[in-house]
Amino acid sequence: MSMIDLRSDTVTKPTPEMLDFMLSAKVGDDVYGEDPTVNMLERKMSEMTGKEAAIFAPTGTQTNLIALMSHCDRGDEYIVGQQGHTYKYEGGGAAVFGSIQPQPIDYKLDGTLDLDEVRKVIKPNDNHFARSKLMCLENTHAGKVLPLKYLREAKEFCSQNNLLLHLDGARVFNASVALDVPVRLIAENFHSLSICLSKGLGSPVGSVLCGSKTMIAKARRWRKVLGGGMRQSGYIAACGLYALENNIDRLNDDHRNANLLAKGLSTVSGVKIRENKSQTNMVFLKMDAHQLSTVTKYMEKKGIKVGGYGDMRLVTHLGVSEKDIKRVVSTFQELFHQ
Ligand SMILES: *Cc1c(COP(=O)(O)O)cnc(C)c1O
Repeated sequence: MSMIDLRSDTVTKPTPEMLDFMLSAKVGDDVYGEDPTVNMLERKMSEMTGKEAAIFAPTGTQTNLIALMSHCDRGDEYIVGQQGHTYKYEGGGAAVFGSIQPQPIDYKLDGTLDLDEVRKVIKPNDNHFARSKLMCLENTHAGKVLPLKYLREAKEFCSQNNLLLHLDGARVFNASVALDVPVRLIAENFHSLSICLSKGLGSPVGSVLCGSKTMIAKARRWRKVLGGGMRQSGYIAACGLYALENNIDRLNDDHRNANLLAKGLSTVSGVKIRENKSQTNMVFLKMDAHQLSTVTKYMEKKGIKVGGYGDMRLVTHLGVSEKDIKRVVSTFQELFHQ
């Protein structure tokens, strides 16, 4: 019985084709700017997002951090969602390394930040306060796609209020595929965006930050300071290039599977599904801590890995087939009907 791992789309392993592509990569020392494969990946990403420049880094945590540190100085603050990855799941890096104060506010149910609420927390220019410098959005957030109309409003709002706008676009390709628009149309609303290659795109490692030439030059310095200046990193940039060529359109399969899963689980009595329809590749089930632990243990015994913080989160990816989804639904049925 094969293991089905729904904990995250980070668990994907490189396919033999991807590994072949990596082996044939041309490499050089990227700290000297001499790795042709890294340069190619950065160029491709900046073209796709319509930004002047891009920089490759080991993780999305690092691309977000170097973005915040490039936009903000010591004593600046950034406005972010209470459940935002940069705020909640990155060890407080902006404050720890950047001396940047986060100003979190609650997300709305659709994953957006209410711009009227944002306006209320923007600080006046006064020595008592941190300087409100930047707003950070996340797309997708908890599997939700931010509407393009909202992104345009957020851009306009930030320009009126003298804020920079950064996107944590770890899964921005899921959003672009779900909206059926080029990623550029999402990116054009932001000063910078960070994109993970190691989630649904299926690379084993790597993230890219895109922005203006000046901003990326600063980010390059911070990446080195933080220990992210890698050498012959073309080998791992190669899998990113491979993923961009081969694994974007197939995100539709993950979205279809997540919907099958949501539909299937919504028929299991006792399972409380947060929403019957998944916008991208995630399904959430309402559970208390005890139930989360019981269900997780049962599923593990049946060869299905699940997890989550608070609610249970089930994530589809290229290692999960339609057949797997059927097995997951029937295992939930087995457990909840016994
Ligand atoms: C995964 C993720 C990141 C970055 O995570 P790393 O594991 O450091 O690559 C950033 N933001 C969001 C929303 C994520 O899901």
